[in-house]
This record gives sequence, structure tokens and C-alpha cells, in this order.
Amino acid sequence: VGSISISGVSKHFVNPTGERITALDNVSLDIPAGSFVSLIGPSGCGKSTLLRLISGLIPMDDGSLMLDGTPIKAPGADRGFMFQEHTLFPWLSIYDNIAFGLRARGIYKQEKDHVDEFIEMVGLKGFEHSYPHQLSGGMCQRASLARALVGKPKVLLLDEPLGALDAFTRMNMQDEILRIWKETGMTAIMVTHDVDEAVYLSDKVVVMTPRPGRITGTLDIKLARP
Ligand code: ADP
Ligand code: ADP
Repeated sequence: VGSISISGVSKHFVNPTGERITALDNVSLDIPAGSFVSLIGPSGCGKSTLLRLISGLIPMDDGSLMLDGTPIKAPGADRGFMFQEHTLFPWLSIYDNIAFGLRARGIYKQEKDHVDEFIEMVGLKGFEHSYPHQLSGGMCQRASLARALVGKPKVLLLDEPLGALDAFTRMNMQDEILRIWKETGMTAIMVTHDVDEAVYLSDKVVVMTPRPGRITGTLDIKLARP
């Protein structure tokens, strides 16, 4: 589960000066269940827009967007989202921030087991009672990842998840994301500016160009990854 079918999708915006921008122009892409797809391309080519459409955070203008054969209309528990800047609540502990992801989805049963499982998975054991400002940027991103994962989504959506981290932390977290992706079997879709990162993590690299936003190529990768 977790296959996504994008067919003839277009999205327009009107910017404050009244200019109409075609953020996505007739974009089609099939993402098999369990794959890891990276979206790369220059700023403004529509990467984030495509990810937000899949998340259901914004509506498309044209085309069809399906998750396991069902049209995507709104955000749902089957998709977890992680952004470049962590979106943890400063007034909640790491435990409560991660539990929030469950409570927001109306899942209360065995909350502690679920939260503990994902705190362990991202390597934050012992930091349950810490607050975001007490942790490094990398640790906050780990907590954001745990929050995105705790509802056991079919699809993990990553918008430049490691873009704000130093090179060393970024490499460690790349391997961590790879391990978690394999362990859970979920589909992952990541926007990144880093071509090395895209090639290192994904099965498929999708290249986009701006004005209008289009897919101009895909690269399939079969690597013996660690
Ligand atoms: P990328 O993630 O590849 O940098 P985006 O998807 O953020 O590109 O943006 C694609 C185009 O759509 C850009 O020209 C951007 O300025 C425009 N755009 C994105 N979101 C909005 C918005 N909410 N309002 C107006 N224009 C937008
Ligand atoms: P080794 O020391 O075994 O030769 P490398 O020097 O290639 O391995 O990589 C060391 C670590 O750097 C890896 O465990 C991985 O975390 C990270 N790494 C290697 N290649 C890449 C890459 N293309 N992109 C991001 N991180 C990488």
C-alpha cells in the first residue's frame, strides 16, 4: 500500500501583482508503493507545490491525484509530513509533541507504546521530557520525523527535511531515514536541493523545470545501499 498516481495535474497561483503563475503544468507521475522518490530542480519548479498537493494541504486545478486508487482531497492519517523547519510546539515536551500527532488523528489507544516505539526509532530515548529549545536542530528534526511517523502513514512526505542541518548531522540522518524507510516499508517522497542526497536515498529521481512547472526527466536507480 502507498502507491500514488498523478495524472495531468495542473496548479496555478495568482501572485500579489496579479500575475498568473503555472506552478504545475500537466504533470503525470506514477509512484509505486514502497518506493523512495526524490523531486529535484531549480527553485520555483513546483516541487513543494506537488508535495503539498499530495499531502492534501492545497487543492489542484486540474487532473487526477490518487492514493491507492482513492482520490486525494484533504490531509489524512495515511500521509505524514516533515518540513525543513521543525514544527514542534515549544510549550510541549518531546513526548507530548510526538503524541500530538496521534491525538490529532484521534488515536488514544496504547498511545504510550506508539510514542515510545517512535522515540526509540529516531534515537531520542531519554529526551522524552525535554523541550524543543533544549535540543539541537538535528534532534528537533528527529522529533519531527517521529511525529510524522507515529500515526503509521502509508506515505511519508519530506520537504527539504535535512536542508537546515550541518553536513555531518545531515549524513547521519540520511542513513536514519533510509533505515526507517526500509523498516516500515512505506512510500517516501522527498523534495531536496541536494542532488547527492537524492541519488543516495531514492529509487527514482524526478527532475523538474520552472515556468511552467514540468517534469523533464526521471532517473531510475538500483543501488546496493547500506
Ligand atoms: P519549488 O518548491 O520548486 O521551489 P514551489 O512549488 O514552491 O517551487 O513554487 C512554484 C511556483 O509557484 C513558484 O513560481 C512560486 O512562486 C509559486 N507559488 C507557490 N506557492 C504560491 C502561493 N501560495 N501563491 C503564489 N504563488 C505561489
Ligand atoms: P566509507 O567510509 O565506508 O568509504 P563513505 O566515506 O562513502 O563510506 O561514507 C561515509 C558515510 O557518509 C556513510 O555511512 C553515509 O552516512 C555517508 N554517505 C556516503 N555517501 C553519501 C552520499 N552520496 N550522500 C550522503 N551521504 C553519504
